[in-house]
Amino acid sequence: MTDRIQAIRGMNDILAEQTSRWQYLEMQVRSVLEQYGYQEIRFPILEKTDLFVHSIGETSDIVSKEMYSFTDRNGDSLTLRPEGTAGCVRAGLQHGLFKAGVQRLWYAGPMFRRERPQKGRLRQFHQTGVEAFGLNGPDIDAELILLGSRLWRALGLQDITLQINSLGSMDSRLVYRNALVEYFSDHKDLLDEDSRMRLDRNPLRILDSKNPAMQSLIDQAPAMSQYLDPESAEHFTTLRDLLREAGVEFMVNSRLVRGLDYYCKTVFEWVTDRLGAQGTVCAGGRYDGMVEHFGGEPTPAVGFALGMERLLELADSPGHEGRQPDLYFIHAGKGSETQAMKLAEQIRDAKPDLKVILHCGGGSMKSQFKKADRSGAALALILAENELEKRTISIKHLRVETAQQEVSWSALPAVLAEILDQNNPA
Ligand code: ATP
Ligand code: MG
Repeated sequence: MTDRIQAIRGMNDILAEQTSRWQYLEMQVRSVLEQYGYQEIRFPILEKTDLFVHSIGETSDIVSKEMYSFTDRNGDSLTLRPEGTAGCVRAGLQHGLFKAGVQRLWYAGPMFRRERPQKGRLRQFHQTGVEAFGLNGPDIDAELILLGSRLWRALGLQDITLQINSLGSMDSRLVYRNALVEYFSDHKDLLDEDSRMRLDRNPLRILDSKNPAMQSLIDQAPAMSQYLDPESAEHFTTLRDLLREAGVEFMVNSRLVRGLDYYCKTVFEWVTDRLGAQGTVCAGGRYDGMVEHFGGEPTPAVGFALGMERLLELADSPGHEGRQPDLYFIHAGKGSETQAMKLAEQIRDAKPDLKVILHCGGGSMKSQFKKADRSGAALALILAENELEKRTISIKHLRVETAQQEVSWSALPAVLAEILDQNNPA
């Protein structure tokens, strides 16, 4: 015998006992997005590898070591999406969305990165992404931040803090990059192996190092703020003013560079210290150059992605277990099965908000009663030969001491509604 096949490490099953918490969270996220007028877009999980290489950037962690790529039978290299922005931009371009004016879009679903699995870091994880296209001012940056802040409030989360920074224009970033290379090259002996590798390929990422031994070196490195071009500096000042006016607290973190190559001007992260090392719940920024880079008209863009597993970890939502069934329908004897199925359908027609479980799989009355009890249903409906003959149903209360009742088939929906209303007064 071979060993039983297991899921791939870092790719979790979400079982029925957890999905109600997911649904609750997804519903909260969706309703906040709707409040701000964002519309959902869905695009494939699989895309051409080039899409990610050309948007996220060859030197990023994602492209250099985290992508699940394979060669299709026709020789194309395809990749399971590691994030959603690239696919969203591709879809928008392909369907001419950006020519049609401002787009406020969101998407949700699984993303794939081959990282070392640990708490809050999976190989298949879920993001909700929010992107706004066609707006270049700091007002839309502020809107996205307010949206996040409203979501934390809706979920009752208090200990998530906002960090912001500006990476400037592509040009000013290049000047800054050179300054960093010069600085770190002068201190090459103090760099760890990772950072030495980043020195030529992606020096900004050195600032992102979590190695405590390098912190003082990083602290003394030149800061991007000294290199900001006037337009980016003004954008950043206005953003901070807008946030202050809106009462959103933030911290400027001049070391915040973000992992992806495509950002410019505003970058931000929502961070908590309740999740250990994986403390970033939500992260985003501006990527004004990407649409044009893929052959579209110049289209400013800004967005963020929310890590749903991390959010779920924070938002303990007790009391959102799946609702128990209202009715468990028991039947026995010749002809009762067909009739029970018909009656269950009639109840569902007449009372769509009731949750009705029709017993399937046969068995004695006694065993069916046991299942009814275990299901958590409030009432058992019983159709045995006796009832079938009289065209009635017996109703047994499973949770309260109340005498069993017998009602005609035609009166059933109304009687059920009455009983259940009494049980759960509004
Ligand atoms: P990190 O520095 O934690 O690797 P990142 O910069 O790679 O994050 P983004 O690409 O900005 O992350 O993704 C946005 C959000 O998605 C993160 O803030 C996080 O909440 C979530 N996320 C990213 N990678 C993972 C993962 N492997 N498992 C679970 N959630 C993730
Ligand atoms: Mg990462």
